[in-house]
Amino acid sequence: MNDTEKSRYMIRLCGVVQGVGYRPYIFQKAKEYGICGWVNNAGAMVIIDAEGERNSLKCFVRDVAARPPVLADIKKVEIRLQASAGYEDFEIRESDTFSKGLKLVSPDVGACEKCMSEVRDPHSRRYRYAFTNCTECGPRFSIIKALPYDRCNTTMKDFQQCSCCETEYNNPESRRFHTQPNCCSDCGPSLELAHSHGCTINCTDPIGRTIELIKKGNIIAIKGIGGFHLCCDASNDEAVMKLRNRKKRPHKPLAVMTKNIQIAARYCEISSQELKLLSSPRRPIVLLKKKEKAIMGENIAPCLKSIGLMLPYLPLQHLLFDDGLEMLVMTSGNRSRDPIQCENDSVIQGLDGIADYFLLHNRDIYSSTDDSVVKLAAGREQVSRRARGYIPYALDLGINHDILALGAEQKNSVCLSQSGYAYMSQYIGDLKEMAVYERFKEIIDKQTALLKANPLIYVHDLHPQYLSTWHAEKQTGPKIPVQHHHAHMVSCMAEHKLFGEVIGIIFDGTGLGYDGSIWGGEFFIGSRKCFRRVGHLGQVLLQGGDRVVQEPWRSAACYLRALGLEARDYIKTVERYEMDAVLHALASGLNCHSSTSMGRLFDCIAALIGVRDRITYDAQAAIELEDMAEAGITSCYGYRINTNSEPWELDYRDILAGVLADLDCRVPASAISAKFHNTIAAAAADMVLRLREIHKVNDVVLSGGVFENRYLLEDLHRRLKDSGFSVFFNEQIPINDSGISVGQLVIADSILED
Ligand SMILES: [Zn+2]
Ligand SMILES: [Zn+2]
Ligand SMILES: [Zn+2]
Repeated sequence: MNDTEKSRYMIRLCGVVQGVGYRPYIFQKAKEYGICGWVNNAGAMVIIDAEGERNSLKCFVRDVAARPPVLADIKKVEIRLQASAGYEDFEIRESDTFSKGLKLVSPDVGACEKCMSEVRDPHSRRYRYAFTNCTECGPRFSIIKALPYDRCNTTMKDFQQCSCCETEYNNPESRRFHTQPNCCSDCGPSLELAHSHGCTINCTDPIGRTIELIKKGNIIAIKGIGGFHLCCDASNDEAVMKLRNRKKRPHKPLAVMTKNIQIAARYCEISSQELKLLSSPRRPIVLLKKKEKAIMGENIAPCLKSIGLMLPYLPLQHLLFDDGLEMLVMTSGNRSRDPIQCENDSVIQGLDGIADYFLLHNRDIYSSTDDSVVKLAAGREQVSRRARGYIPYALDLGINHDILALGAEQKNSVCLSQSGYAYMSQYIGDLKEMAVYERFKEIIDKQTALLKANPLIYVHDLHPQYLSTWHAEKQTGPKIPVQHHHAHMVSCMAEHKLFGEVIGIIFDGTGLGYDGSIWGGEFFIGSRKCFRRVGHLGQVLLQGGDRVVQEPWRSAACYLRALGLEARDYIKTVERYEMDAVLHALASGLNCHSSTSMGRLFDCIAALIGVRDRITYDAQAAIELEDMAEAGITSCYGYRINTNSEPWELDYRDILAGVLADLDCRVPASAISAKFHNTIAAAAADMVLRLREIHKVNDVVLSGGVFENRYLLEDLHRRLKDSGFSVFFNEQIPINDSGISVGQLVIADSILED
């Protein structure tokens, strides 16, 4: 057969293929290579019937399958040779059949360059139009109410396209062909500036006025794509402090947005990999190292060497930087502890006393999402908070049952299975607050409806007092409780498609164990279905319930007591009556629990070396302890592993004694921190080496919130690699409690297989 002879292929492509400019792309490519036939959209599948010269057909297949538009995510390709049909043209066919398999819509996507040049062009009809978008960019997930993805199923339904927009929409050669949120200033959403009490401010240029107000030091609540931001000038210390005081957020780092990458590079070290993350269309917040000599407001991320930074992703945000502003604080528009807000009226009420002004618009947000947070760890993108730009997230896990996994308590997310796929929800928040619980229920309802899913089985954490457990108990249908750290381990196994036995090192803050104590410094050997606890950090008796987490000095007092030391000799910053109360309660066993939590050991060290007695945001002491660790120190403290009986015990007594001796010799805190980190990594690696000898397992999985600590993760990862282990850690599924729901779902499915 020669290359000019004609062939015909039936091509099926599965994945994120809707709302990403795929069909116009295929249409263009067909024209380019002289291919005839048709393309048809069917849910998460595109079917192409393509006929043409053999060589051209090959190029066409290569371009559509291997080089799809940037937002398309092709999961499966199927090609079958067909008998000739004699097509004479290429057409885009409409389909009303909706496939049963994978149901994927695109995440929300940052404004593309082409759209931004229109927005900047005074001759364009979209000049300075804040809602400009095209097939390659704009809102998707946040506006979709139902599938299939058509304008009538989005919150753009109420905006009737003008004739110019409609012409673009219907023209296969336009880059707005079938762009569901297509609009312009004549027909689309519009902005409105309002006073703090909600009264509209009459002005022709709300963006221009907003810029003036920001420059004067005001705090503006700005409605974006997945919710509201609270925004102020990051270079204005007074404004930043005002925002902190009003939000009652004294220390927690604030995310910033810079005008462009050049400004970001003035303040932060940015590697080429980090540059890619920052400028990707997903536009996450990326954790970056501050430049040592850069002068950045001390109040943005106090006491830390790193900062969360993102680039503008909405035309509206780009426009805010048009008149001199270079860096804005962009923190989520809610009161501390509340979930992100997205409705105009409730936001005006909820942010009363926090925002000076509101920049609103009239396109509804159907699904609210926070900004996503990522960092580089051991050279890989690691997602800490999976939300805008990263959701929806479907994993092809071959799940055989219809399950809803309800997650844990902190950083909750839920996970739903349907037709073999697992769909992880966006980051929801800490389920202690009723407002977050309301959002949790709403997200479950919306995802179930969007996917037309019908969960029959509910999975929850072992902890009886989590709201997620309580929610499971109210449902009718079988329930499966799953141990917290097993779920962490399996979340990582699912991501890396591990099916056999692994050694799991799970270092975490809390999580209820089977023996009723708090676990969190765990070594497991197990599979997706079950595990054995083969080792753990030595137990300590902790006093004070949740207050231990909020006040690291309490951990330190409990550890010192366990060593038989007088806590008052080492912790001098705490009121005597508070210390006495803890020591008395410990002696009498009042409100005490036994714990192997690695998070509390980190808190203990942080308190001992004077980092912090009390925290104002989650894991603050441990984060600051990591941040201060001096680079280049390789020494360790002594440690012991007790192997007399299973589970083995990683004994902390020598480690603590080493830290106290260094404190005595006035070794700098930065050096103690580094030595402590090295010790935990060395001891964990040692434990795993010994476990391999007995159990002959070579795959090691690292998971749990303590591994958000990049120093620890990278050091342990390197040590294990050097010893010949295959080492895996959570990258796309969060390593913190946000990833629990995926682990729960996979465990339940494995249990049900029997
Ligand atoms: Zn665009
Ligand atoms: Zn229009
Ligand atoms: Zn956890």
